[in-house]
Amino acid sequence: MIKEIKVKTALSPSLLPGLDYALNPYRGCAHDCVYCYAPSVLHWYKGKWGEDVEVKVNLPRILSKEVRTKKKGIVGLGTVTDPYQPAEGKYEITRRCLELLLMHGFPVCIQTKSSLVRRDIDLLRRFPGIEVGITLTTLDDSVRQTMEPGSSSVEERLRVLEELRENGINTWVFLGPVMPYITDIEALIDAIADVKPGYVLVDRLRLKEGVRERVSEFVRGFDPGLVREYESIFDGDEDYYLKILEMVIKKCEEKGLRCEMNRLW
Ligand code: SF4
Repeated sequence: MIKEIKVKTALSPSLLPGLDYALNPYRGCAHDCVYCYAPSVLHWYKGKWGEDVEVKVNLPRILSKEVRTKKKGIVGLGTVTDPYQPAEGKYEITRRCLELLLMHGFPVCIQTKSSLVRRDIDLLRRFPGIEVGITLTTLDDSVRQTMEPGSSSVEERLRVLEELRENGINTWVFLGPVMPYITDIEALIDAIADVKPGYVLVDRLRLKEGVRERVSEFVRGFDPGLVREYESIFDGDEDYYLKILEMVIKKCEEKGLRCEMNRLW
């Protein structure tokens, strides 16, 4: 269910590395990724994650005041939601915020699982030094549909990476979270290398509040044969991820891709 809401503030200080501010145009996210840990940091959010989305309809108006008074800094657009989730197609809150940030000289950092970002290429290319990140967790679109049902297809995401690059926008890929025994890493890295992003940032599952239960339920439905492996990883067995890390580094080297690890790996 979509609900329109009004907010009092727009930019909030961010503790994420490389960001000064967080700007979230929506509360909730219709992409509904099985491993999402955003609900664990939004304790005040009462909706059903994946179904209920609150649209901050007055956000551009509030932001238009803040950009005149706040110190310039890097704005992470959508740190606990996807700024290009389906509601953005109608409401264009992200686009209107981008226009203001561009006008007032605030650099932005964007990461999405949606090809809707293509719509804003005209604006994005005008931000000096901008980097746009696209998340990929599998090459198999039927697996993507079960893990990230509301997001754009794998093929669309790969095409949008190409299109961004062709328009002079620096791109990167967030390969994460690597879902043990599900993410087809080698095939995925091959496909990523073909669209030539600036670099790949690799991450593992983050077991924040509620994530273990949700992922366990997903794995039971997806492939009950994997339940034991997941339980072992959840309980602290590091072997799987250490092997994956080695494999990712080797494969990226082979393909000439710069590879970075999330600092919490
Ligand atoms: S796109 Fe991001 S915020 Fe949205 S459900 Fe997926 S992980 Fe959560």
